[in-house]
Amino acid sequence: MKAVVVGSAHLDVLATVTGDDLALDKIGQVAIDVGGTGANIAVNLRERGAKVTMLTVMNDSPFSRIVCEFMGSHGVEMAVSTLDGPDAVFSAHVGKDGEMMSAISSMPVGGASFETDTIYTLLTDADCLVLDCNISAAELDRLVGFANDMLVPVFVAAVSEEKSLRIKEVGGKIDGVFMNRKEAAYYRAHHLHGASSYEDMARDLHAPLIVTLGPDGAVVADPERTFSIPPPSVKGIANLLGAGDAFMAATIYHHIGEHLSLHEAASAGARLAAKVMQLANCNTGKAGAVTEIMESLEYRASRDALTGLLTRGQAERDARTAIEASAIGNRPAAVIIIDIDHFKKINDQFGHDVGDMVIRMVSDAIRSGIRDTDIAARWGGEEFVVILPGATADAAVVVAERIRGLVENALKEKRVTVSAGVAVLANEMTELDDMLKRADEMLYAAKNSGRNRVVA
Ligand code: GH3
Ligand code: MG
Ligand code: MG
Repeated sequence: MKAVVVGSAHLDVLATVTGDDLALDKIGQVAIDVGGTGANIAVNLRERGAKVTMLTVMNDSPFSRIVCEFMGSHGVEMAVSTLDGPDAVFSAHVGKDGEMMSAISSMPVGGASFETDTIYTLLTDADCLVLDCNISAAELDRLVGFANDMLVPVFVAAVSEEKSLRIKEVGGKIDGVFMNRKEAAYYRAHHLHGASSYEDMARDLHAPLIVTLGPDGAVVADPERTFSIPPPSVKGIANLLGAGDAFMAATIYHHIGEHLSLHEAASAGARLAAKVMQLANCNTGKAGAVTEIMESLEYRASRDALTGLLTRGQAERDARTAIEASAIGNRPAAVIIIDIDHFKKINDQFGHDVGDMVIRMVSDAIRSGIRDTDIAARWGGEEFVVILPGATADAAVVVAERIRGLVENALKEKRVTVSAGVAVLANEMTELDDMLKRADEMLYAAKNSGRNRVVA
């Protein structure tokens, strides 16, 4: 199944969303995450197994890049209409005590008019079009028109009370409308002048209407009848934010992709929504999306790509902190510099790829020769530094000797060996740089006295 989703994708920078009990699906917490009805539906459809392209508006900001990177990492293809100006909206809600309750960086998707060619291309092999009401009433009408011409089913999400009124114009031309209880009440009050049932609403809209009722489940109403979808039993609701979007995505997926009737599909959707409700953060049905991206960027920045050991920069920062703590606490600490012997010859004899493999094997030996609390880095090409907080000179020599032996054994065939120099924290040597200088002198001595040895 292939879906095209048009709507908003934004960054929830920090949000504690509160609300009254009529807007149950809007209450929840996010630290920093990708949100937006369109984005949530796109990711959830993708996680069901659909092929998804999302059409939205972005600018050149880091916020936009984070959102696009996130969507891409979830397999959603982004078809972005680029803004020239700095038209992003950053809005924050600050509480009485000055605490920021929520902040959102969003793009003015309501002002967008997407290129005709793009829309036609995307709809050519699409099984459905999903629109969120963040796009303008005029654009909604235009996109529904294209889909009708191309016989592609269309579903619309209400997004908010005010924006739900935009659906009025496309009634009769769409295959389903999704609202929550509060949006449905608002729509009814404005377009149907008060009292009427969901069936009446569906009749007025000339389209099936699906209303989510939070813990009360949902209803699927068409002009003839109303099905009620009971809520699945949920153990401890952590959060309702995004559950409605997950419900909508799953319902559309089962209806279009698996040809279930709308109310059967909605029952399947309710089961997914229940799972989402149990997540601490369910903006997109997935906890901590952006945090995960940041952590992986941080990880990549602090690790050497070839060996997975710390980079020199990261190790220097970690080592300074560790050595300072040892000096203050009057505890020992040691530094080992390890350098591969005659490495140039290895490259010359076996080639650069084998050289790289040797570097990896030496780093494996280092990793297995130290403790988790030790700091190990690839300092330069074929040179490594290990910092051992808490180690005396004798202990450090044992570790260096262990690593030397591990390398000698592991690379016996290629006759690869390493030399090492050891220095310790002392009264006249309390800084990392001094210790490294001394260790380097010891390494030089090891090289000069025959290599494949440790000098302290
Ligand atoms: P010594 O025993 O005195 O340390 O001799 P050496 O040949 O190991 O020392 P030298 O510092 O002269 O040469 C190091 C070589 O390591 C030079 C460089 O081409 C190679 N090298 C540095 N980084 C890499 C790398 O990432 N991969 C490979 N394959 N070789 C590297
Ligand atoms: Mg060397
Ligand atoms: Mg060297």
